[in-house]
Amino acid sequence: FTADKYPHIKRNPNFKEITDKDISYLTSILSQNALIVDNGTNSSDLTSFNVDWMGKYRGKSRVVVRPKSTEEVAKVLKYCGEKRIAVVPQGGNTGLVGGSIPVFDEMVISTNHLNKIRSFDPVAGILVCDAGCVLEVLDNHLAENGYMMPLDLGAKGSCQVGGNVATNAGGLRFLRYGSLHGSVLGLEVVLPDGTILDNLLTLRKDNTGYDLKQLFIGSEGTLGIITGISISTPKRPKAVNVAVLGLSSFEDVQKAFLKSKEDLAEILSAFEFWDFAALHLCQLYGTNRSEFPLGQYPFYVLIETSGSNKEHDDEKLTACLESLLEASTVQDGVIAQDVSQMNNLWSFREGIPEASHKAGAVYKYDISLPVPVLYKMVEDMRKRLEDSGSFGKDKAITHVIGFGHLGDGNLHLNITAKEYDEDVTKLIEPYVYEWTGKYRGSISAEHGLGLMKANYLGYSKSKPMIEMMRMLKKSIDPNGIMNPYKFLPD
Ligand code: FAD
Repeated sequence: FTADKYPHIKRNPNFKEITDKDISYLTSILSQNALIVDNGTNSSDLTSFNVDWMGKYRGKSRVVVRPKSTEEVAKVLKYCGEKRIAVVPQGGNTGLVGGSIPVFDEMVISTNHLNKIRSFDPVAGILVCDAGCVLEVLDNHLAENGYMMPLDLGAKGSCQVGGNVATNAGGLRFLRYGSLHGSVLGLEVVLPDGTILDNLLTLRKDNTGYDLKQLFIGSEGTLGIITGISISTPKRPKAVNVAVLGLSSFEDVQKAFLKSKEDLAEILSAFEFWDFAALHLCQLYGTNRSEFPLGQYPFYVLIETSGSNKEHDDEKLTACLESLLEASTVQDGVIAQDVSQMNNLWSFREGIPEASHKAGAVYKYDISLPVPVLYKMVEDMRKRLEDSGSFGKDKAITHVIGFGHLGDGNLHLNITAKEYDEDVTKLIEPYVYEWTGKYRGSISAEHGLGLMKANYLGYSKSKPMIEMMRMLKKSIDPNGIMNPYKFLPD
């Protein structure tokens, strides 16, 4: 979708168009290679900064700034603030709601060159790093010290920790290690007027005034640019087990979750699920070519345990699975015997977003719901689309799949279509948001609002809450230069 496909969004005329004079000034204050400009005559290709991971959103920025230090970010934002140049902070550009892409000609400020690990305290497990560090690089670095990042996502090889914090990313370790609102201990943020807000504490406890860092966690680049992060990291578990199970109904999925919580208790670290349609999609488009170890069942569940004593964990997991099989809650199951089998089982789950991406245009909905009604959303949507006559073989809509972090009450509903099309969008939206609102769910469990959901915020937040958000935005970014057209409703 380019801005012309969003007729309700008009370029804000208060924002300055970037001129050669601005570029000369920025060149003079920044280090070499920090600026990429597409002036139409050179070979600069800014496509990768202007198009999102799904290929769904496309902006028209001709200037990308890649500062090499917090001070450089501050200089750029001070100038942009004074001149009213609109900016879009960008990390790994793996976001799924069009938040990291300019809508018109906003300047992209990329954190790609802010990639230093500043310190790691191996006793407290506290890491301090630049915002542009790639999640997987950090996780590998911590592994050398016996620690790990408290979050993990399918996009770990590209997404950056600054982007993770800006979106308050959830992911695969959320069930065990919780939200970034808990594990982030401090932030360094550059405000839209160039002020550096140094709140980069490494303390677990600090009750001195408003906890300002929380405002920036999940603010999606609308309040400032996060440049540094201090984060509490857990010890890497000594013993990990992974099992994948086949189940006959969503009722059984819930029973298995309850039983796992009871029997596995403190060692349960992930409880993921996907439906057969998701598996089928992976078999058609996924990159994992190895054979799926179980037969055809309506649902699959991945259980991971993480503990410190392999024998103890093996015993607990085996007993739990045996009783699930005996009660016919689970129809079949497999336990990984080594690390490579574990990675292989995880890759069936982690490969689902990639496979949907390859299947065509993908409409992604990331919803929090009470677990008992979580899958009803998929069933109701499938029925609606079937009834419309647009879903099925050789139709506009090709697949409707449900998967996600069941342990967190988080459904990923992915609908693939031949192409992004307004008629398809109208069949899905606002129905999907109305449905979610009806069950008091959240229209964004973990991906954020971005451009995609800004105008639907009212389905999850009340008017007074939205008004307070606007007040906060206005007081921190009075000219609205930070990531405009996104996050808050028009
Ligand atoms: P970007 O995409 O570059 O930016 C995302 C938003 O944050 C934008 O609004 C941008 O303006 C803002 N931003 C980025 N960096 C900064 C900064 N330094 N300061 C201020 N604002 C900034 N998400 C989940 O939560 N859970 C998952 O399990 C998950 N799985 C995924 C799997 C795949 C295959 C893919 C492609 C994506 C997945 N995502 C998931 C979504 C995405 O990876 C996350 O939202 C991630 O946190 C984005 O990080 P990023 O560095 O790519 O940010």
